[in-house]
Amino acid sequence: METNYFFQIVAVSNCASKRFINYLEEMFSGSKIHCFSEGEEAVKFINDSSIDTLYFSRENFTAFDFKSLIKNGNKKNFSTILQIKVNGDEEFVQLDKNFLIVNKTVMDGKTLDGYVESGIYFIPQELNSLFKINLFEGVIGIPLPVYSSSVEYFKSRPALFLDRDGVINKDVAYLHEVKDIVIFDAIIPVIKFFNDKKLPVVVLTNQSGVARGKFLESDVLKVNQHIFNYFIKKKVFIDRFYSCPYMESGEIEAYAKKTLNRKPSPGMLFQACGDFFIKLDGSFMIGDKISDAIDVLGLTNISIQRNYDLAGAQHHVFSSESEILAYIKAHCDYSAGP
Ligand SMILES: [Mg+2]
Repeated sequence: METNYFFQIVAVSNCASKRFINYLEEMFSGSKIHCFSEGEEAVKFINDSSIDTLYFSRENFTAFDFKSLIKNGNKKNFSTILQIKVNGDEEFVQLDKNFLIVNKTVMDGKTLDGYVESGIYFIPQELNSLFKINLFEGVIGIPLPVYSSSVEYFKSRPALFLDRDGVINKDVAYLHEVKDIVIFDAIIPVIKFFNDKKLPVVVLTNQSGVARGKFLESDVLKVNQHIFNYFIKKKVFIDRFYSCPYMESGEIEAYAKKTLNRKPSPGMLFQACGDFFIKLDGSFMIGDKISDAIDVLGLTNISIQRNYDLAGAQHHVFSSESEILAYIKAHCDYSAGP
């Protein structure tokens, strides 16, 4: 694997497993691999290191998008998740590019709004000092999409992610009735381009109207179903809709919660990656608000100028779907296959 970016591999394993070591060597030829039988030893080794570390806290053959990790070696260019223990409760916090906390939520079982606790963690060298502090009993990781086996990883492919309101259909305030749906036909060629390449097309939509008490989750499904059916008639296909009905300040108690599923947090995106074996390198997200841009490794964010102020967007802004399609065609390389 060619790279100018160096990091070490630290693995906790019984070291009897040749298969595991072979797997690491194959995945990371060029990186030095250090194997420990005890987690404590491994953590101490990392504490004393002055290099970025990819840490396997146990034998784990799950594969995520390692190539993206290395290709996008600028390690500050993605979301980081820090797992901490506060008063005995395990929590996750999401850090921004400057390692400031932007989102915090209590861990719920093994998965957290699309994040999977894989036992694989990326530890940027700058965080070594934090890693040593007792408060941070956990580990630091990037929640890249995790696939259930490396075989499936090799089948992974890029995808098109779409916001719904304002991208697929006219953004009328709190759309929830089929009669109010106005679909932009201009998005059809964009979807078709991905359909023709047999790449997934996934909708990621915040629907805080549910938390605000404006409409029900069943209304969201009805609108999604109508859009899906409309596109079928136009001979294009959306693989799945992911909707987030939650919002922390919502009035409906059951939906008033902070969640990593609400864009710009990447929960729904990662859920889709797991469901469809999507790799983010080569994937595009199209939105009409700055908050649609999901800041994760590998993903290219794009906005279409509709009614929202996009000044200050850190990503590409276009005024038409045809320009977006031209941009995608110029910047994707799907010819080599998945
Ligand atoms: Mg929108």
